[in-house]
Amino acid sequence: MTTHRNSTATDRLAEVRARIGRAVRDCGREPDAVTLVCVSKTFEADAIVPVLEAGERVFGENRVQEAMGKWPALRERFGALDLHLIGPLQSNKAEEAVSTFDVIETIDRPKIAEALAKAMDRLDRRPRLFVQVNTGAEPQKAGILPEDADAFVKTCRETYGLAIAGLMCIPPVDDQASPHFALLNVIAARNDLPALSMGMSADFELGIQLGATHVRVGSAIFGTR
Ligand SMILES: *Cc1c(COP(=O)(O)O)cnc(C)c1O
Repeated sequence: MTTHRNSTATDRLAEVRARIGRAVRDCGREPDAVTLVCVSKTFEADAIVPVLEAGERVFGENRVQEAMGKWPALRERFGALDLHLIGPLQSNKAEEAVSTFDVIETIDRPKIAEALAKAMDRLDRRPRLFVQVNTGAEPQKAGILPEDADAFVKTCRETYGLAIAGLMCIPPVDDQASPHFALLNVIAARNDLPALSMGMSADFELGIQLGATHVRVGSAIFGTR
């Protein structure tokens, strides 16, 4: 990867866009098949502005509180955008999450599904929803276990009336990502879920090859955290 210490976020963004474009073309997918989610967690508004000025409108944050501090002013200045929650969610933050985010990628247990359903009714606001799958079955990691995913998607739909758009995963850091991405794709297909959020700075091209519709790229754009 040709990210230099003195390169700017705008330079790095251009390179990420080019790499995504190549990966999409190389596997014969439509040019607009993959959405870049620019992961701006830990970065201040000043660092995010150049990426907004370069035209990006889809961002990811992993903490509700942090996003509530940064994004209202940026929305005011830049207009409509899609803000994704990509970090774990507590049920007592459901209302704040629903009012702050346009997409919530990390639904992983009935308690959260229920809290979100209630918050969405109360606020009459409907973010798009993804279920997070713990494809590596890591004890410390959020996400529903792969073997429980079908039943959980059904519960979200039938018990809580949630429209689930797709699935998200974060493979174990020390594993090859490809089996995890392939597994997520299989679970999504058998549950009629069109969206797949998989692939980060280190492996977004692989995610694209294996069917990602959303790649979540942070450090390759914003630099080291
Ligand atoms: C931080 C984060 C990313 C981005 O990671 P990079 O390696 O910086 O691209 C993607 N997804 C989730 C869930 C994250 O927490």
